Amino acid sequence: MKKAWADAKTSLAGGVDSPVRAFKAVGGNPVFMARGKGAHLFDVENKRYIDYCLSWGALFFGHADTKTVSAIKAQADKGTSFGTATEMETELAVEIQKAFPGMQRIRFTSSGTEAVMSAIRLARGFTGRERILKFEGCYHGHGDSLLVKAGSGLATFGSPDSAGIPRELAKLTAVLPYNDEKKLETFFKTNRDLACVIIEPIAANMGVVPAKKNFLKLLRALTRKTGALLIFDEVISGYRVCYGGAQHLYNISPDLTVLGKIIGGGLPVGAFGGGARLMSHLSPQGRVYQAGTLSGNPLSMVAGKSVLTRLSKKTYDSLNARAGEFVLRAGRLLGRKNRLSVHQAGSMFTFFYSDKPPVDFSDVRRSDTKTFRHVFRGLLKQGVYTPPSAFEASFLSTAHTSEVLEKTLDAYRRI
Ligand SMILES: *Cc1c(COP(=O)(O)O)cnc(C)c1O
Repeated sequence: MKKAWADAKTSLAGGVDSPVRAFKAVGGNPVFMARGKGAHLFDVENKRYIDYCLSWGALFFGHADTKTVSAIKAQADKGTSFGTATEMETELAVEIQKAFPGMQRIRFTSSGTEAVMSAIRLARGFTGRERILKFEGCYHGHGDSLLVKAGSGLATFGSPDSAGIPRELAKLTAVLPYNDEKKLETFFKTNRDLACVIIEPIAANMGVVPAKKNFLKLLRALTRKTGALLIFDEVISGYRVCYGGAQHLYNISPDLTVLGKIIGGGLPVGAFGGGARLMSHLSPQGRVYQAGTLSGNPLSMVAGKSVLTRLSKKTYDSLNARAGEFVLRAGRLLGRKNRLSVHQAGSMFTFFYSDKPPVDFSDVRRSDTKTFRHVFRGLLKQGVYTPPSAFEASFLSTAHTSEVLEKTLDAYRRI
């Protein structure tokens, strides 16, 4: 493992292709995985781990799911990329529309980041406005307009949250706290020129923090009133919380929906969509440019279709119930020694080491990361892999059988 890490650092920037994989938040060397099957990952030394990261929630049926793999193999034999129109794209779009009827027209991309960037460009092109609003603690990929944090004062102007992002661009993104109705209302009194508001309706990138229903309803009302488009970033929540995503759960319709992760069956993908008239503003029909060499890639399309066609209300009922029971029992074990708030939405969950259940990012930041590190390392040693950051969600797959979950609980017991 040490050699793998040393070698990686001599050829890859920082040794990884996505920063969280470097284990900076938890210490120690990152684990190099070699293969996966079902609920398990195996590292380069063949040590087995029960996996609760599941490629950041992308794997609904677990690793190397047999049906997904055969779909990919069958397509690979026929070709991996054509750069032309294919029927596979239509087929996946139709499948998505069964769960998300509001996505009357869909455009596929190669990642969630691209889908978000394109949805924002569409919103700007459609409305002829430039400013956008996002919420603290929500993650929408690494596009320039979204890597922005609240500026000082009334948070009307954002400032760059990464080097390399032009200040002038960051200023076009306003940032407000999640779940704060008062601040939202005040903000809209003086800001009626927004192109769009983007939100994770169930936040899953500061740990799991659901939006309050009234907060989302207010947001829907204010955006409608001021002509700003409402974008639900359901890249995680879309196929995690229930069939139809958070918009179904809350019964609130956004103007645009962004999806990713599960809809690619573990292959690179993103998608965004909304009403037919709005989507007609995209090129080639409209004047908002958007494109991609590998967009709608055949392998991603067939992998996604193989997963989505097996999902139904019933699939979610049983997996979510299993997750609920597991989270309750693990929470009891962790709660013996720690202050604990347990957050669960569908088959994703976060254990926050705090007295008060977090409702926004400032609450989340106050939770105890030292205890998180202790638990993370204790689990890892015993062959349980959880996301290597206190502010992330953990996930269950259908491959997490009772036996696997009991084993995990044993590991929690020994911490
Ligand atoms: C993962 C994620 C993205 C970005 O998707 P990538 O495929 O990593 O670019 C965007 N929004 C949310 C809510 C996500 O969880």
